[in-house]
Amino acid sequence: MSPAPAIRRRQSKIVATLGPGSRSPKVVELLALAGVDVFRLNFSHGSHDDHRMAFETVRRTEARIGRPIGVLADLQGPKVRVGKFPEGKIRFGFNESLSLVAGETTDQAQTIPVPHPEILAVLAEGDEILANDGMVRFTVTQAGQSPKVTSALPGELGDRKGFTVRGKALPVQALTEKDKEDLAFAMDLGVDFVALSFVQTAEDIRTAKALITNKAPLIAKLEKPAAIDNLGDILNATDGVMVARGDLGVEFPAEEVPIIQRRIVRAARAAGKPVIVATQMLESMIDNAAPTRAEASDVATAIYQGSDAVMLSAETAVGRHPATAVAIMDRIIAATENAEDHPAAMAQFSGDAKDDLPVDIIADAAFRLAENAGATALALRTGSTRRLIRFSRQRGGVPVLYSSNDKPRLRRAQLLWGIHALEMGPAGDDGWVDRVHQRSGLAGATAWSAWRGEDEGDVSAWLMGVVEE
Ligand code: PGA
Ligand code: MN
Repeated sequence: MSPAPAIRRRQSKIVATLGPGSRSPKVVELLALAGVDVFRLNFSHGSHDDHRMAFETVRRTEARIGRPIGVLADLQGPKVRVGKFPEGKIRFGFNESLSLVAGETTDQAQTIPVPHPEILAVLAEGDEILANDGMVRFTVTQAGQSPKVTSALPGELGDRKGFTVRGKALPVQALTEKDKEDLAFAMDLGVDFVALSFVQTAEDIRTAKALITNKAPLIAKLEKPAAIDNLGDILNATDGVMVARGDLGVEFPAEEVPIIQRRIVRAARAAGKPVIVATQMLESMIDNAAPTRAEASDVATAIYQGSDAVMLSAETAVGRHPATAVAIMDRIIAATENAEDHPAAMAQFSGDAKDDLPVDIIADAAFRLAENAGATALALRTGSTRRLIRFSRQRGGVPVLYSSNDKPRLRRAQLLWGIHALEMGPAGDDGWVDRVHQRSGLAGATAWSAWRGEDEGDVSAWLMGVVEE
């Protein structure tokens, strides 16, 4: 098999979820070649053995195709669920009165067990309860130890279905016992990113980061109203965010999800934190071999907003056309990035930006040099992931060729907008940019930017130039 081209023809990245439909070596390779930059292992499903096999398959694929690939372990998080019913489920009619009781199970009729007494305690009259991904709705009619609720619609509720209260911060731990076990397992494997579901506060981030101990960056999945309320603090504390539209769309009415998406992407870009837009992007491709126009437009919108990455979930985890979904996403991204008005869209967030740091001024100067010299790429050499992220944050006009011999850094770089990771041997000062240029396969001049030392603020140790072809 011939190696993959060293750099992709687009700047925004693709995250794809592995699952029963895609974790065979053959499909993983097809997906990587079609455009996946980071694979997601979803710990809400599958066994540790499944995830270990998928992880090893990705690493072997990476070695075969010669391009760094990231792996993200996505922890289930404290998703609140109902307990179990004597008959596996209950049925109810329109406007029927039911009770909630604390516990794993119950033998009383028309009663819903909830194994979290602390949540029942915060329920107030008028609260809206959503269960089974919003398919079931109840209104609280009486607070107390065993609150009373009324069903809004006829329906049924099965064992262990999700349960949430619209718009309310719930008193739950940041990580469950399962999350802690999954996290220890994922760190042992050596994943490149950890994502945490149902984050509510910056404190949740700090709790998770204390367990990760800097071994991997943390992506906060924003899918709870409390997380949107605490967006600024969460952005400060986290390494990246995901706009998790699946659960966000359960907690908020659908019409608010696009507004929240826009707000998060903008704030994350200003803060210089990578942002992934996720869920239902090409949903109809779970069955069909082509997306709807609306889905194509949804991917393009996330790209116009300047997201670092867009994500595929069920499309690649269980869908019938995983590689086609990736190939189509790749085409939509490339087409959007080539549109005439795309550069203006990338420049749009600068009004929100905090004071420029020395590294921002350098990055800006390097991109201007590249533009001035008519360079087709900017070669960057630095040992600091933070600098790399600040270069990415500029959303510059040419691809950044990031050369390193540090595999974990290269894999993490693959989530960042505009950064193309090239694994190269230890670079001496002479000729590294020529070698990077050659590896990239790009025609034309390459501008370059490099630090001699690793001191973040030390501008005197920074050099730049242009190498003509
Ligand atoms: P999930 O997260 O797929 O793990 O639920 C993403 C989302 O909720 O959109
Ligand atoms: Mn979710």
